[in-house]
Amino acid sequence: VIEISGLHKAFGPLQVLRGIDLSVERGDVVCVIGPSGSGKSTLLRCVNLLEQPDSGTILVGGTELTDPDVDIDLARRKLGMVFQGFNLFSHLSVLDNLTIAQRKVLRRSGSEAVETARRNLAKVGLAGKESAVPSQLSGGQQQRAAIARALSMNPEVMLFDEPTSALDPELVGDVLGVMRQLADEGMTMIVVTHEMQFAREVADRVLFMDGGVVVEQGPAEQVIGDPQEERTRTFLARVL
Ligand code: ATP
Ligand code: MG
Repeated sequence: VIEISGLHKAFGPLQVLRGIDLSVERGDVVCVIGPSGSGKSTLLRCVNLLEQPDSGTILVGGTELTDPDVDIDLARRKLGMVFQGFNLFSHLSVLDNLTIAQRKVLRRSGSEAVETARRNLAKVGLAGKESAVPSQLSGGQQQRAAIARALSMNPEVMLFDEPTSALDPELVGDVLGVMRQLADEGMTMIVVTHEMQFAREVADRVLFMDGGVVVEQGPAEQVIGDPQEERTRTFLARVL
């Protein structure tokens, strides 16, 4: 469902992605790990066209994102994204946060949007929080609301960029639990994370990035459990 090849991206003189190849099948969970500055967020942002790649191709669900004639808004709808910060609209209720894009972008009726929102709030354990505003929720609840908002757009693929790294430790588990449940339900996911335990248990494949390249990839038990590359070993020794 995602096919990336030869992806390059520079910011001025800084080469951030130097030829990334990645293919993700439907239902796959791919965890991306690597040191700060290795290009993980930039990779996700290119997949979501928040950044324009310099070269290479990105196919999402059969649509070539890098095609100059592509309908970017249509292509982007295939992807749900959850960031480190919760990115909810702070002046809107949880329910409105979940319905606004459904109505404006997908042109759903109010009642259909509300029904979809309620279903997804229940799924992430937030039934009953519809009328709360974000500041009345814990960080973990806000992040789960952000996940429910992304799910309400019926994406083909969910992209997560360190969704738990801004959370207090005791709130991390709930968010990871929701992500684990999504994975079990067969959602296709690319997850940038420092949660090695999550990667071990949930990922079908782990990608170790460093210096804008994929240094090593494979099943978690291989990449995390028995890394072949020195750079991977050095990184894991620091985070495990
Ligand atoms: P972290 O683990 O800290 O989130 P990362 O692997 O996600 O790191 P990126 O955010 O992709 O790394 O950044 C890779 C490099 O690109 C960094 O050196 C960063 O400073 C630089 N960079 C990212 N976005 C921009 C931008 N918009 N303009 C200039 N430089 C950028
Ligand atoms: Mg990042």
